Amino acid sequence: MNLILLGAPGAGKGTQAEVICSALKIPAISTGNILREAVKNETKCGLEAKSYMESGQLVPDEVVIGILKDRIAQDDCKNGFILDGFPRTVPQAEALDKMGVNIDKVVEIFVPDETIKKRLSGRRVCEKCGNSYHVDFKPTKVDSVCDACGGKTVIRKDDEPQTVSDRLKVYHEKTAPLKDYYEKQGKLVTVVGQEEVSETSKLTLAAIEA
Ligand code: ADP
Ligand code: ZN
Repeated sequence: MNLILLGAPGAGKGTQAEVICSALKIPAISTGNILREAVKNETKCGLEAKSYMESGQLVPDEVVIGILKDRIAQDDCKNGFILDGFPRTVPQAEALDKMGVNIDKVVEIFVPDETIKKRLSGRRVCEKCGNSYHVDFKPTKVDSVCDACGGKTVIRKDDEPQTVSDRLKVYHEKTAPLKDYYEKQGKLVTVVGQEEVSETSKLTLAAIEA
């Protein structure tokens, strides 16, 4: 099964992607994580992507499309995959169609902008392994120390309040039109994000199995 998770930054796509990954045993692919890794390793893609990411803008289509194409060609994607954060523009969605990738379902996780602003201000990520936490909703056991690897947890540069507003603007302008795109293909299902992560997960899994 090939799935897409759609939703504003901070709607909880990443968390839901992990839940689906363990339930269906198909890999979750986050273009954001791949890009952050590339930035950290200072690869050619990473150097190109860095300034866009830090300012909350989208990385150019041809860069992300190339990354995604390489990733889904890997062996572990043979039985399907979950895309988290791709496509983010209509040209990216068209590129997937052109690659001949058949998408079964597109799950939109809907969360209002105001809620998102609150959530992202408390988000912390591990510098070392990239695990994600939240000061209120998913705190680390020891303050600022990653549960998984002991690395230091920090505020992501693009989670600064001004950048969050810019990311939301970009989402509404460039990514939200994908709802129409997939609605027309009869693939869109919307899940309303709940305060309790496990409640959202139940709704997400039900939407996929329906
Ligand atoms: P979030 O969904 O929390 O905004 P991601 O981790 O998915 O964050 O992405 C972080 C940043 O990486 C984005 O703001 C953007 O700059 C870049 N990025 C990730 N995926 C894409 C994509 N499909 N197209 C363009 N830019 C992307
Ligand atoms: Zn860590």
